[in-house]
Amino acid sequence: MDISLSPLTLNGALHVLAAIRDITERRRLQERERAAREEAEARLAVLQLILDELPASVYIVQGEEARLVLANRATTTLWGATWHIGQPMLDFLATHRIRLFSTDGRLLPPTAFATVRAVHEGETVRHQQETIRRTDGTTLPVLVNAVALGRRLLAGVPAEVGSQPTGPAEPVALVVHQDVTALKAAEQLKDEFLSIAAHELRTPLAVLKGFVQTLLVQTTRGKGPQLVEWQLEALQSIDQATARLVELTEDLLDVTRLQAGRLALHVDPTDLVALARRVVTRLQMTTERHTLSLATSVEHLVAQVDPRRMEQVLSNLIGNAIKYSPEGGSIEVTIREEEQAHEALLCVSDHGIGIPAQQQLLVFGRFARADNARAHSIGGTGLGLYLCRELVERHGGRIWFESTEGQGSTFFVALPLVPFPDL
Ligand code: ADP
Repeated sequence: MDISLSPLTLNGALHVLAAIRDITERRRLQERERAAREEAEARLAVLQLILDELPASVYIVQGEEARLVLANRATTTLWGATWHIGQPMLDFLATHRIRLFSTDGRLLPPTAFATVRAVHEGETVRHQQETIRRTDGTTLPVLVNAVALGRRLLAGVPAEVGSQPTGPAEPVALVVHQDVTALKAAEQLKDEFLSIAAHELRTPLAVLKGFVQTLLVQTTRGKGPQLVEWQLEALQSIDQATARLVELTEDLLDVTRLQAGRLALHVDPTDLVALARRVVTRLQMTTERHTLSLATSVEHLVAQVDPRRMEQVLSNLIGNAIKYSPEGGSIEVTIREEEQAHEALLCVSDHGIGIPAQQQLLVFGRFARADNARAHSIGGTGLGLYLCRELVERHGGRIWFESTEGQGSTFFVALPLVPFPDL
């Protein structure tokens, strides 16, 4: 309402008074609004200052296109380019020819970016490893946390920062990137150490294995003096311990080969039924407390796999079924053809100690072991399942399990029956 002075009458005086009150009220409101805006801006400036001092890149994006709302200084360093407020993420990446890769070096599709997942699916993504390849060709390994936020959290951000006008329910995400170059370098150093140590162990172990086998074989052939029972038992124990050490060394070498991307598969048409039968027969000889059985719906099932590596996977799974059933019992191996999915499905079931529910997500990790395995004093390195998963996935397959603590576990391996395109 504007001030309009009409000739002074009693009624007119009342109008003037009302108008003056209105103006005072409006001023007060404007004043309050200005103060609130100034306070919001001051808060934002402090927030920006704090964010800019953080070593990690922190930004907020909004909408399905992940338009930038707010970013700190480290964000520019991270991408090696300036991402402008309001610019959609894919547009920014394309403009600067920045690409994202997964840890195994594969180009990530946009739908797999942590930031995009958070705004598309409203999903909070924790600790996703990505590698950024910047415009100048340099790469940066990062750990990304993308937290899906409620829209109300943008209420304090002035409209000009919030970029374009937005619909009522636009998703918002807070994304934090942590540079893990130093961690990766330390990991690489550890892998190099493991690789050197394992290589150096190989030669003396081969000598040990060779001589102990010569002693055993020549003694049974009657060459040289007869050994008494305890001497034979000692030799057999040395033989078994050496075989275990060779296995461990090979596992360590495989881990370092996988990390360095140097593990090559030698793929051949392989009958999985015959392969499983061989492994079952061999491992049955190592235990009297367990009964191993093989059930199969087909006589032969040929898949394009590396037979040595697949034998390693199956030996690991059946070996674990034996090891983690300390009371003994039956272990069932089944193979069947899943015709619709064009897959071979291998299952290894035991009735052993099982895997506690809260640790089931971890057991495919490097050096990861469940608490109940330690509690039962069952030895292991935590490398077997990691290797199994890597090997199966490199064949284009999948591996998973179902397990109930105290009741047993079933591990499943699905392998494609048509040649995998990357092989
Ligand atoms: P490990 O050398 O410890 O056996 P693995 O990588 O083969 O290493 O397995 C990782 C962990 O998963 C084991 O330490 C154990 O806790 C659990 N695990 C694997 N297989 C079984 C099984 N069949 N039953 C119960 N626990 C298992």
